[in-house]
Amino acid sequence: MKKLLCLAIAICFILGTAALAACSAKKEPCSAYDISVSYDSEAGTLSGREEFTFYNSYENELSELKFNLYGNAFREGASYKPVSDSFKARAYYAGESYGKMEISAVENCASWSVGGEDENILIVTLNEPVYPGQSVQINIDYTLALAKINHRTGITENCVNLGNFYPVLCAYTSAGFVECPYYVCGDPFVSECANYSVTADVPESFQIVSSGAEQSSSVADGRRKTQYVLTNARDFALVLSEKLQTKSENVDGVEVMYYYVDGGNAEAGLKAAAESLRYFSETFGKYIYPTYSVVETGFCYGGMEYPALSMIAEGQEINDAVYTVVHETAHQWWYAMVGSDQLTCGWQDEGLAEYSTLMFFENNPDYGYTRTAIVDSATRAYRAFFSVYNQLNGSVDTTMTRNLGAFSGEFEYTNIAYNKSLIMFDMLRKAVGDGNFKSCLRSYFEKYSGKIAPAEGLISAFTPCSKDMEGLIASFLGGKILI
Ligand SMILES: [Zn+2]
Repeated sequence: MKKLLCLAIAICFILGTAALAACSAKKEPCSAYDISVSYDSEAGTLSGREEFTFYNSYENELSELKFNLYGNAFREGASYKPVSDSFKARAYYAGESYGKMEISAVENCASWSVGGEDENILIVTLNEPVYPGQSVQINIDYTLALAKINHRTGITENCVNLGNFYPVLCAYTSAGFVECPYYVCGDPFVSECANYSVTADVPESFQIVSSGAEQSSSVADGRRKTQYVLTNARDFALVLSEKLQTKSENVDGVEVMYYYVDGGNAEAGLKAAAESLRYFSETFGKYIYPTYSVVETGFCYGGMEYPALSMIAEGQEINDAVYTVVHETAHQWWYAMVGSDQLTCGWQDEGLAEYSTLMFFENNPDYGYTRTAIVDSATRAYRAFFSVYNQLNGSVDTTMTRNLGAFSGEFEYTNIAYNKSLIMFDMLRKAVGDGNFKSCLRSYFEKYSGKIAPAEGLISAFTPCSKDMEGLIASFLGGKILI
């Protein structure tokens, strides 16, 4: 995700200062989602059926599966609200509005219930245990009511944003399934890669932007039905709209598409998406999906990443929009292909996305950014945060690895997960040298593409260059280093 730059600038102004198994590229068997959804534009609802084949790639037999129901964060009375008070006005453009995800049936199981901390988890007890290497299919019927909100899941003024539109299997670790409450700081999503087939049935007047590549499409009785496929992806998103225009460019076989409404930043946005996709492919490793779609839509933050699809907040000033496009494109490497535990290590993908953005601009000076300017800006913002928190509290928690719920708000989270992490990666690069830095990131990408990389995996990617790297990273993560 990209926080709005203007928020960071505004805060600075106010302050008076400027491993888990998953399907990998080696085509190991993995879980599969076969989802059919139908959108009712008058009711603002999505009716869905998810036929989910769970492949047990773990060492334990499992008699229960858990799914995150992110749509329930948008319901009235949710304990974990979708936005903080400071983003409410930007998000709820038509006053407060609510949605929810309702499960109506789960087939081929012993029992099911909705629970978790905030009615955010579907718990399915299987008919019999599924053993390592075995599969089981369950079918889930559900309805997603959509709030009018500029957010990941909701009806915006020009589009319908369908991030998290289906029950998604919780990642599984030795501690069990990872349940993700909808924290307002960061991206509370941890999921493993799977294969997707998604069929969307929408009024004919609606265009569909999708994570997947189109397989077939037909129109009948005023409805458009389109099937998409995406393999080896940890999530899947759609955006629907009657108003979007599009421009596209082929980048080394990848169809890069930029969707916008009148007055959007189409040319600059497409150029940034295409050039950054090419640069990151050459620098870190090949982009694995056949398409990449960037869509300008109503969004309360700067942007949000999904596999092969990025949402960018419409109405941004052109430089902010371009920066956001590059940041979200970097997330195709650091989130979509190489996953991480975003619940406790937000710095891991946000810091790398920010630093990759810096590397892109450094290699493309026409955009007007320099490495020094970006690092200086992050350092100034971080020092301002430190100074204010120190004055307010007498001390500052600058640890980087902590649960999203342990941050006091977006200001603290942005400075730790984005700014401090960017500063850390710049210091690492200075320590190991430019060539080693890139090769460390390449080997990290190669090792963890299609998986969820533990923080130790990223740290150990740098240790071959110098034994001191472990200590340097530890002093950043543990909050011991002074910036
Ligand atoms: Zn981000």
